Amino acid sequence: MIEIFAVGGYNDIGKNCTAIKVDDEIVIVDLGIHLENYIKLTEDDDLIKINPKNLMKAGAVPDISVLNKLKESIKAVVISHAHLDHLGAVPYLADDLKVPIFGTPFTIEVIKNILKEDRIKIESELRTLAPNSRCKITDNIELELVHITHSTPQTALVVLHTKYGSVLYANDFKLDMHPVLGEGPNFKRLKELKGKVKILIMESTYAPDAKKMPSETVAKEMLREVLLETEKNDKLIIVTTFSSHIARLKSVIEFGKKLNRKIVFMGRSLAKYVDAAEKANLVEFSKNIEIKKYGKQIEKFLKKIGNDRKEYLLVMTGHQGEHRSVLSRISRGELNFELVHNDWVVFSCNTIPTPTNIANREMLESELKKLGVRIFKDIHQSGHAAREDLRDFINILEPKSIIPAHGTNEMKEALAELSEEMGYSRGENIFLVSDGNKVVFKNTKNI
Ligand SMILES: [Zn+2]
Repeated sequence: MIEIFAVGGYNDIGKNCTAIKVDDEIVIVDLGIHLENYIKLTEDDDLIKINPKNLMKAGAVPDISVLNKLKESIKAVVISHAHLDHLGAVPYLADDLKVPIFGTPFTIEVIKNILKEDRIKIESELRTLAPNSRCKITDNIELELVHITHSTPQTALVVLHTKYGSVLYANDFKLDMHPVLGEGPNFKRLKELKGKVKILIMESTYAPDAKKMPSETVAKEMLREVLLETEKNDKLIIVTTFSSHIARLKSVIEFGKKLNRKIVFMGRSLAKYVDAAEKANLVEFSKNIEIKKYGKQIEKFLKKIGNDRKEYLLVMTGHQGEHRSVLSRISRGELNFELVHNDWVVFSCNTIPTPTNIANREMLESELKKLGVRIFKDIHQSGHAAREDLRDFINILEPKSIIPAHGTNEMKEALAELSEEMGYSRGENIFLVSDGNKVVFKNTKNI
């Protein structure tokens, strides 16, 4: 018997967590954080104790109490990729579970860096598994990580092979034939898995969008046009993007070098992800850039810039207008540095559409406008598969059942509709679930 527990990420985007129970053994896939709820909790009340119970109550981490009675059955945690909504709860929940945590080398390095930075020690063993390889978790469950493209390196499709067939977890991915960093999706392996996947747990975030998600090379081209083909200036250029988006950062460095500017990364989270990527031997950014991690270091460096604005390209945190980020602080005239008329700020990102982010970004942009800064926004392509990619993915695998995940009801509904178009039926082999629900596959011969 296989049971799928929708623990987190099935009501909205964030705190992803799915438990897969095969007979009496459980593997948990992803332990993510809900960033907005987490920030709300930690900002609202300085005195609140950050313990698993409080975090769960606030919806900041997945509510794993649904597995309380099954704790003995939990054998491992597998992390699909290095985004916080997939691994951010590891520091808080790992000691509750005390089982090995598996991930690709980059993902594990990111976890290590987060633990180090937050000075948290966990008992669980962190185990790396190379992309496109497999290992036994128990006598009955074999884990395979299949390489797929997304917006952070070494993202994996998590496959559990069991005597009942395979369960494939596809949160998150895009089908990018021309990635800027690393290889394209492992289509060869996906084709081999055709017909063998009994249950497909799949992201639905962009299921309502009738398109194919453009490649990261398209985002790179957008960035190239802005940085290299917009009227040259003698002012400061600032780029802000996701710290985990190593491919995007690589493009920024490439163009910064072409502009003959000194490239400086600023902020703790950028430092954390760049360090993880270097330790996993994916890039060698340090050869070409300087990194300023902490406020004092950043302040000291900014002082040096003075009238040499045209000599620098700064990459910094703050793309969502986060209040404490380097960019927001600079926009408010903190850090003893002021932006001036015609300085550039390039937002190589989208605004993640939550009320807090939208409000924060508006505030940041209005500060920048007051200073006369030139703003370039939405220089970006998403890392998520859109409707026609999802269709292709289902066609390649021909799974027996589909569980829409990673989204709101509207998003999951759109994936359910797409599956219906492709011959699947609700209740029979499409299962719409919310956080706290489970799907039981009793008659395992027929699943
Ligand atoms: Zn992701």
